[in-house]
Amino acid sequence: MIDETLLDRAHRHAADFLKKLPERHVAARASREELLQGLSVSLPDQGDDAAKVLDALAAQGERGAIASAGPRYFGFVIGGSLPVAVAADWLTTAWDQNSGIYVTSPLSSVIEDVARTWLLDLLGLPSDAGLGFVTGCQMANFTCLGSARHAVLRDAGWNVEENGLAGSPNVNIVLSEESHVTIHVALRMLGFGTRGAIRVPADEQGRMRAEALKQTLEGLRGPTIVCAQAGNVNTGAFDPLEEIAKIAKDHKAWLHVDGAFGLWARASSTKRHLANGIDHADSWATDAHKWLNVPYDCGVAIVRDAKAQRASMTSTAPYLQQTSGVERDAIDWVPEFSRRARAVTVYAALRALGRKGVEELVDRNCAQARLFADLLRKSKRVRILNDVVLNQVLVRFDDSDERTREVIARVQKDGTCWLAGTTWQGKGAMRISVSNWATTDRDVERSSEAILRCAES
Ligand SMILES: *Cc1c(COP(=O)(O)O)cnc(C)c1O
Repeated sequence: MIDETLLDRAHRHAADFLKKLPERHVAARASREELLQGLSVSLPDQGDDAAKVLDALAAQGERGAIASAGPRYFGFVIGGSLPVAVAADWLTTAWDQNSGIYVTSPLSSVIEDVARTWLLDLLGLPSDAGLGFVTGCQMANFTCLGSARHAVLRDAGWNVEENGLAGSPNVNIVLSEESHVTIHVALRMLGFGTRGAIRVPADEQGRMRAEALKQTLEGLRGPTIVCAQAGNVNTGAFDPLEEIAKIAKDHKAWLHVDGAFGLWARASSTKRHLANGIDHADSWATDAHKWLNVPYDCGVAIVRDAKAQRASMTSTAPYLQQTSGVERDAIDWVPEFSRRARAVTVYAALRALGRKGVEELVDRNCAQARLFADLLRKSKRVRILNDVVLNQVLVRFDDSDERTREVIARVQKDGTCWLAGTTWQGKGAMRISVSNWATTDRDVERSSEAILRCAES
């Protein structure tokens, strides 16, 4: 029997957490030892009362969770969760659908169909592309590069799914020196390894140098995969995709674009130009749990050659009762087998925001990144290291690594906002990412004041 009081209790705890989110200290308030003290009971023989278990979790959530879903968390590129997406995620959990195949969940299959169509439309990508919902951009990169591996070897007369890579034609892997670490991990998992990858130099904003790519490809023969980027994790810069796409096409290379957050620039009429040419690529990886602001975890893998994606990802077994017709079986498009109905939150967010809402979200966060840069630049101690073209700001204090590290540590301790450090072209920097629907201009002002206060003391 379903215990409704338990769901009500969870609702109260969740609402309480979310209500406090905007004003609480952004960092965690408890240490590992304190959290262990609250959580590490010996595994009970009989089992504790369910309400008590929930209360215990909520109590530790209050002090052990980071307020990364809140409006003044600017670390990494995290995004928050739109209320409608949180609520839809609860429904997803209650439905508890195995979303692997149509037969186990017609509902999830159809929601994926619709969300796929909306995403391809909104992002301006081919309407017949393959698309799969994965855990995040790491797995999106993996899925896209798995599809690339299939296609370039297929064209060289080699079936990699049957034969593996041992004895296969060589595949040239060409990256930017600024490629995200998850590209390297994907290459590792796909059997390419990382040592043989050719790294193309990038410019001072982290954009791959198209001329250097051209020279690199001119020296290569045979199957080739090029990995470009829309949205550098430090600067937010975009590779010159128009030129890169043309060069890749001239050399019949597969072009993959990692656009974990940058791909969302396509939803904005004022930012779209940054990603010009991106629609000429062969595959695109992005996240919904970053800029679309759905809860973890949700990434999206998109592949122009849907047949290649399907061939590299599909699984079949006699017991599966897969459909051969129009119904979508999610296992054809992603590495996962059983999984949650991951597209439900995407459906909810896109429908509730609409085209205009997504555009406003992207534009607002970009304007807030510029506001950050303008407010911080007022201090003589501050230098902004990047062109603020998107949602990323790199800040250096007193032109010193040590001072920059100190300021970051103080800001984290202060708790008004939270952000972390990075190294950009050999220089230590504070890294600000704005990607949360709930962030207001006032939050940016308050955070800038706190940062400058920490820099002056
Ligand atoms: C965040 C990010 C990734 C990894 O995405 P996850 O969702 O964390 O797996 C890959 N590439 C870029 C550019 C990113 O910003």
